[in-house]
Amino acid sequence: MILEIITLGDPVLRRKCPPVEIIDGSVAQLAAAMIETMHAADGIGLAAPQVGVSLQVAVVDVPPMEGEAGLFCLDGVDKDPAAFMPLVMVNPILEMGTEKESQSEGCLSIPEVRGNVLRPFAVIARYTALDGSRHLLECDGLLARAIQHEVDHLNGILFIDRMSAAAKLRIRRALRDLAREPARYRYTPGPAQGG
Ligand SMILES: [Zn+2]
Repeated sequence: MILEIITLGDPVLRRKCPPVEIIDGSVAQLAAAMIETMHAADGIGLAAPQVGVSLQVAVVDVPPMEGEAGLFCLDGVDKDPAAFMPLVMVNPILEMGTEKESQSEGCLSIPEVRGNVLRPFAVIARYTALDGSRHLLECDGLLARAIQHEVDHLNGILFIDRMSAAAKLRIRRALRDLAREPARYRYTPGPAQGG
């Protein structure tokens, strides 16, 4: 089921999500609908508050990087990331790497807006899967960035919060235009990928 994507201005995006206590069928259903919604919007990630649900559930589907194999070490073993996408993360907790990188980001909840965000290049994510199993994933590059972006959503943080003051100034008009739109807006797929 494709869900409505909540856009900037709705307070649900600013709330810190409580953890999932019991992973039951309703959580699995939510994750399945989030994956469908993310794919329909051409996104590479989606967090539950973006579909109006304040719970620590995030999904990511990051295509393999061309020409370079990114780090994808699951529970201590190097794996092919393609075999694990889309990835559902319940109650994720991140440990950030020290090396940082600035890259352009977008967000399905902030249509038409893109900007550079400085983030750690690699992360270690601890999360629970839908079957209740606990995992530790070490990854880098775009996947690490997407995961950080989604975990930020679970904490009520948006990528525009992490942009430099100068970069924020450049998107001021776009944000103002978006604020005039209805709070709920159906995302139109475009070349810009977001999460
Ligand atoms: Zn986002």
